[in-house]
Amino acid sequence: METNLTFQYDRQAVRIDRKRIKLPKIGWVKMFQELRFEGKILRVTLSKTETHRWFGSITVDTGTPNVPRDTRGLPVVGIDVGINSLATLDTGKHYDNPRPLKHYERKLAREQRKLSRKKFLSNNWYKQKEKVAKIHDKIACIRNDAHHQATTEIVNMETSAIGIETLKVTNMLKNRKLAKALSDSALGGFLSKLKSKAEALGIPIIEVPQFFASSKTCSSCGYVKDELSLSERTYHCDWCDTKIDRDQNAAINLKNLAVGYTES
Ligand SMILES: [Zn+2]
Repeated sequence: METNLTFQYDRQAVRIDRKRIKLPKIGWVKMFQELRFEGKILRVTLSKTETHRWFGSITVDTGTPNVPRDTRGLPVVGIDVGINSLATLDTGKHYDNPRPLKHYERKLAREQRKLSRKKFLSNNWYKQKEKVAKIHDKIACIRNDAHHQATTEIVNMETSAIGIETLKVTNMLKNRKLAKALSDSALGGFLSKLKSKAEALGIPIIEVPQFFASSKTCSSCGYVKDELSLSERTYHCDWCDTKIDRDQNAAINLKNLAVGYTES
């Protein structure tokens, strides 16, 4: 989220009591959720987004430093980041998109259509534009939170390396379709969080280029399908008859490629 104004407070200046925080000159302010970490509060940062919404971020020292671990001999994890679910691991574990996301995405499309029908730069156009920006913010918050939870859990698994698909930046810029743009920006947010957390723990991330057909390739025999439509949720191999969840199949392929990298 773009921010254009920030304030920082030292821990002496603030007080936190469950779901509320006391800020100098402002007083008690309700928080969306309770602090999720226990430890010493180091500082509180308030920032204002371009859409005039305020966010607070609280830095907590949990007392457990991010020390690179000895990961030799631990398994490699493959991750498929998708449109339908947030992420799928090669083990078959799914991270689902938060439920409210679909609702807000539909709402966004609706309000954007309304915006396109307003007279450009009229009062009503500005009002509608503000509405659209608020929904954008809401979606970004929901995704951000889900990405943080999933990536933290993944890097905390016993793993020696992570294989994942790279983001195709050129396509992202070309594609103007809303759904695609949203899923691309989601992949970008997921990747950047995963990378910074993995790096802190010394877990290498192996990015597999998208020209590798992770979805169309059979993870059992290596056969590559010509076509695989988005609606096909199960990968069914024409060659070896394997039937497997589509996303898990892709994740296993990404894992296998990453294993090849780490062994060479
Ligand atoms: Zn096969």
